[in-house]
Amino acid sequence: MKIVVPVKRVVDYNIKPRVKADGSGVETAGVKMSMNPFDEIAVEEAVRLKEKGAATEVVVVSIGVQQAQDTLRTAMAMGADRAILVLAEESPEPLAVAKVLKAIVAKEEPGMVILGKQAIDDDMNATGQMLAGLLGWGQGTFAGKVEVEVADGSVRVSREIDGGTEEVSLKLPAVITADLRLNEPRYASLPNIMKARKKPLETLNVADLGVDTTRRLTVISVAEPAQRAAGVKVGSVAELVEKLRNEAKVI
Ligand code: AMP
Repeated sequence: MKIVVPVKRVVDYNIKPRVKADGSGVETAGVKMSMNPFDEIAVEEAVRLKEKGAATEVVVVSIGVQQAQDTLRTAMAMGADRAILVLAEESPEPLAVAKVLKAIVAKEEPGMVILGKQAIDDDMNATGQMLAGLLGWGQGTFAGKVEVEVADGSVRVSREIDGGTEEVSLKLPAVITADLRLNEPRYASLPNIMKARKKPLETLNVADLGVDTTRRLTVISVAEPAQRAAGVKVGSVAELVEKLRNEAKVI
């Protein structure tokens, strides 16, 4: 079984995002960019399934600018076998990404697509669900555990839900989205980064895939959140109650 893992290039999670001076978005020029952390977890899971013998090939896909190559190389250094870069604008919206991924699925015919549960730049949490809808496949979102039953062509997914976990069994092919507790991704070691340079990376254009990626979402403006007033430390419960009653006037 082949597994496709979509990986997005986003502002590194250690960097404090800055809003562009014209309020049109978040500054990415000269900012450290990395693989979306949930996508690292998705790559790790796909590589582990291959190591266990449940998968035969891991193909990573990124839709974005030329520099997304670096993200794909990192995924290959973690163990993915090959990569596809679909050139597009910097951060295409989820429906456009899902449509491109549907075209990639038609070309690659994987048994499973594992995405991150959300991209940390726009926090959409929508692409996996939209892809499953467009493909008419089952979906196991917010996966905390994934077990492939090779013999009967299904996958058991333990999902993180409010108040606990939910077990679902899906017929393959299926779409899975990775949650934080699914695994701890390995580091891409230097020798593996060197080796990944030799792995195949195919570059396509959206037009090659015949997909309409016209934007439907409009960003009206992006602004920093309002500065919060500094907190105060109280010495006792009585002082806390007094402040809540007389200063904050909330009780
Ligand atoms: P989102 O719905 O934007 O929160 O993204 C959910 C997941 O979809 C991400 O964790 C990625 O696995 C995938 N994804 C979103 N945008 C892209 C992109 N431009 N290229 C590749 N994968 C993407």
